[in-house]
Amino acid sequence: MKLADRVAQLKPSATLSVSAKAQELRAAGREIFSLSVGETDFPTPAYICKAAQDAIDAGFTRYTPVPGIPELRLAAAGYFNRHYGIAAEADHIIISNGGKHCLYNVCQALLNPGDHVLIPAPYWVSYPPMVELAAAKPVIISTAPERNFKVSPTDLEKSLTPKTRLLLLNSPSNPTGSCYGKEELDAIAEWAVARGVTVIADEIYDQLVYGDTPALSLCAWWQKHPENFVIVNGVAKTFAMTGWRVGYTLGHPDLIRAMSRLQGQSTSNICSVSQKAAVAALNGHMDTVEEMRVAFERRSALAMEIVSAWPDVLCPRPRGAFYIFPDVHRHYGARFSDSTSLCTLLLSEVGVALVPGAAFGDDRCIRISYAVSDDALIKALHLVEKVLLG
Ligand code: GLU
Repeated sequence: MKLADRVAQLKPSATLSVSAKAQELRAAGREIFSLSVGETDFPTPAYICKAAQDAIDAGFTRYTPVPGIPELRLAAAGYFNRHYGIAAEADHIIISNGGKHCLYNVCQALLNPGDHVLIPAPYWVSYPPMVELAAAKPVIISTAPERNFKVSPTDLEKSLTPKTRLLLLNSPSNPTGSCYGKEELDAIAEWAVARGVTVIADEIYDQLVYGDTPALSLCAWWQKHPENFVIVNGVAKTFAMTGWRVGYTLGHPDLIRAMSRLQGQSTSNICSVSQKAAVAALNGHMDTVEEMRVAFERRSALAMEIVSAWPDVLCPRPRGAFYIFPDVHRHYGARFSDSTSLCTLLLSEVGVALVPGAAFGDDRCIRISYAVSDDALIKALHLVEKVLLG
């Protein structure tokens, strides 16, 4: 069938396809360790599920306002206000179908054909396709593991052109686990304001930070310069709610209204029941979040203990999110020559599913998600070691 050019070249999401392949093999009876998709192994906390059940029992199953029910928009604004001391209001917020949908709609609402979008690599797999689907151009900025995969204003300045419209910044980072410090974030924010660039801050992992790394947000910069900052977050990672599909965007009211028109002509509101669950999550306590955060921190230490003993492998210690991104390219050779062939071999030979670094714009690396049980993590990493070190 003849397809539109914009989808004919569109690649499937690598994170989702590796995870689907792992599930398929599991269903066929193979023992598979899936350290692929970024999804926590914890159940959604009971008080959140209860709010959804109550919503169904109360017949809350109809269309809602397109940008979200007022109490959820207020709860999301309250999240920023409580955690980061700003004064956001409900009409600065729109609710979309997960953080991914927020990012997609922000690109659709802000980009014109030919605009440039700065994307530091390694990047999350869906950033470049989202930019291309808005007929804009991803401008990839490479970073190094020796510098914790971070960019500075100097790096950004080198890629600046008169067409630069947006910078996509993700901290804590998927796939590297690196986090920008306050001073680093401020320097980038100052640069963006001075250059008239709008920063889309993907802060979906903001609460999952380790050691002395603080939870940080660019929302205070948004408060001062609402045209230069857009903040995207969601309940998926913080509250173990990946399947509920609730993301929220904090932005200039013009942008929120534009995204609302876009949703009104495409998806309408997100699931009504999920919205009630998200209200309970955002207005509730953070005790279960803290329990999960502590477990992820323990697992990151477990993973680093094993991976840092691998010779000729460079792996910065993760400061947040639930991934490590070791640079394993010094082991490439006859058996596997790049990250994709290594991941294919790992799945077929030892049943470990990982996502190749190539999908994140860095073929030297592989992404390991440690959002699995301690036991599965240890077993899987020893299997990776067997294949990698031959
Ligand atoms: N963000 C997660 C990941 O990177 C979920 C999968 C996806 O939507 O890409 O694995």
